[in-house]
Amino acid sequence: MNAIDFEKASFQDFENMEGRDIYATASEFLKYLDFLKVRGHFNYRIESLSHCGPEMHLVLPGNDQPTWSVCLVSNDYLGFSQHPKVKQAVIMGTELFGTGSGASPAIGGHFVYHQQLENKIAKFYMKKEAILYTTGYTANSATLQCLLHKQDIAIVDMAVHASVYEGCLNTNRKKFLHNDLKALEQILQNAQHNYRTKMVIVDGVYSQDGDLAPLDKIAELTHHYGGYLMVDDAHGIGVVGQTGRGGIEMYDAFDKIDIITGTFSKALGNIGGYVIADPEIITYLKYQSKQHLFSTTATPAIMGILKAIDLIDEEPEWRAKLWNNINYLKNGLRDAGFDVGATASAVIPVKVGEIPKALEAGRLLLESGIYTNPIMYPAVSKKDARIRMNVMATHTRDHLDKVLNAFEDIDKRLHISSRQVN
Ligand code: PMP
Repeated sequence: MNAIDFEKASFQDFENMEGRDIYATASEFLKYLDFLKVRGHFNYRIESLSHCGPEMHLVLPGNDQPTWSVCLVSNDYLGFSQHPKVKQAVIMGTELFGTGSGASPAIGGHFVYHQQLENKIAKFYMKKEAILYTTGYTANSATLQCLLHKQDIAIVDMAVHASVYEGCLNTNRKKFLHNDLKALEQILQNAQHNYRTKMVIVDGVYSQDGDLAPLDKIAELTHHYGGYLMVDDAHGIGVVGQTGRGGIEMYDAFDKIDIITGTFSKALGNIGGYVIADPEIITYLKYQSKQHLFSTTATPAIMGILKAIDLIDEEPEWRAKLWNNINYLKNGLRDAGFDVGATASAVIPVKVGEIPKALEAGRLLLESGIYTNPIMYPAVSKKDARIRMNVMATHTRDHLDKVLNAFEDIDKRLHISSRQVN
């Protein structure tokens, strides 16, 4: 039973500890959390007293008095969770249908608003059919778990979301280096005659780097070798593409993707996940995917999503505002010498390097009134820790200037930018 070096540890080290039962594991994990707290590096589950938005009233660790911070932690990119018309639609849903749906979909829990949402999200991508899940996480994990088994293979970009990895637990899985088409082709070539179903899984927009997958080329390769392509565009919908149809629109890949998945919890300001595919696959999932079949359907509050989807077309000014903000922050950071990678979305990383440095950067930013997320292994590779920011349409210039100033200040202490690296 080896002791863990807390200096270099990540949450993953406590997932499945050799020789320790669950209580021994949990108590070691608690010691690690205490270690982080003492250093001011425990910035998780920070309670907000106000709604999700560009500023939040936060109860910070070790501080009794709540403070207002500029926040870059919300995926509510267009600010729709606070949009009066979306709130009105949620209220109407509750007034008409109450607060719950009472049953799983096959046995009494399928209501008109579920059907409308399935139709609407499918039509949004110019497809015929969709299935709803109660989270985006389950949309990925349950779909893959249902479709892929021992004789099949999942070929995944290494940067896909944890929910995809979970969906691949009962099948064969091969990872390829992020966006590396040669590596993908090699795996496809080897897999071509050895597996029943070959499913390539990528994100439209990646959640840690904010960069895009070249979907046109990936689709071409995948189909050339007899595979199917599944794209999770959780961070692309509403944000990327001329009309907010995400990475799929950027690469005009509407007819090239076999399975589209995504979430209502980000730009659509609510909660829930969806899968869009050909009718036979969707029908199969409706009656074979256990997390859908045996789980109660979403509440009538999802009527807010119906309005949010309309607003993507009806009020494109939110997307324009968002892109002004993205470009302002990204260019400001780049001009100051920070490495923001290849982001092409509302996710902006500032590459920092080692885990302790990212944690310290997060602490210092929070101290300056800027709430961001330090991201580290296993979400990204070990020496690629970063501060991740999510930009919103409702951030003001003043908010973003505060962020830029705070980065310049912390840079003097942590030497993150190319200007400060010694
Ligand atoms: N896919 C990606 C790429 C994500 O970033 C997330 C959310 N963090 C999910 C899926 C899961 O979505 P949800 O939060 O709605 O469960």
